[in-house]
Amino acid sequence: MRTAAERRELLKVVYEEARTCIRCPLHHTRTNVVFGAGNANADLMFIGEAPGANEDRMGLPFVGQAGKLLDKLLGEIGLERGDVFIANTLKCRPPDNRDPHPNEIAACQDYLRRQVDLIEPIVICTLGNFSTKLLRDDTAGISRLHGREEVRIIGTRAVRLYPLYHPAAALYTPSMLETLRGDFHRIPELLALGPPEQPRPIEPMPDIEEPPEADEPPASIEAEPAAQLGLF
Ligand code: URA
Repeated sequence: MRTAAERRELLKVVYEEARTCIRCPLHHTRTNVVFGAGNANADLMFIGEAPGANEDRMGLPFVGQAGKLLDKLLGEIGLERGDVFIANTLKCRPPDNRDPHPNEIAACQDYLRRQVDLIEPIVICTLGNFSTKLLRDDTAGISRLHGREEVRIIGTRAVRLYPLYHPAAALYTPSMLETLRGDFHRIPELLALGPPEQPRPIEPMPDIEEPPEADEPPASIEAEPAAQLGLF
């Protein structure tokens, strides 16, 4: 088990890499990489879509109206930003707040998976369609999935994945806000379940004893092609 200080240091290493990232064209138009913020030792993570104009300027996630709503909902369940870690599917702002493109999501997803691996949250709330589809690796949409928790493997970790409506969408639709609030209020119950059972770590290969050297292979044993040995 890593200490909080170790997680922080390791996250900083990922951040240093992300800060100068040129894996997709968004680096041409960004002001700041919005890596994510919060508690490196959090049990609860939120994953939004992508930075907007305010986030791009400040280098921090959810600093606009949607962020204020997120703070309010967190307060209603007795939490604040310092208790959780907030990140996005994309670390850089798409111009004009357009939807993330598939090549951008593909280029950026390694950062998110490393964040999850290091933080080891119990619950991940995906906010809206983009993070939900990415982390579930499925096209099912948020209106069907919101408020339904499930155990999913993200990278090497099993987590309780809990899709929620995106706060920005809920800002302008009162019925969606009430649904988001209802779903949100179940988060403490999910946290109280603790981490789901973790997949067994991959065991290291046992040492294979070298066969005694022979001048010639026995006539009956032919060299197998690699594919037949399960090597790719
Ligand atoms: N919307 C998001 O998805 N992320 C942010 O950081 C801000 C708004």
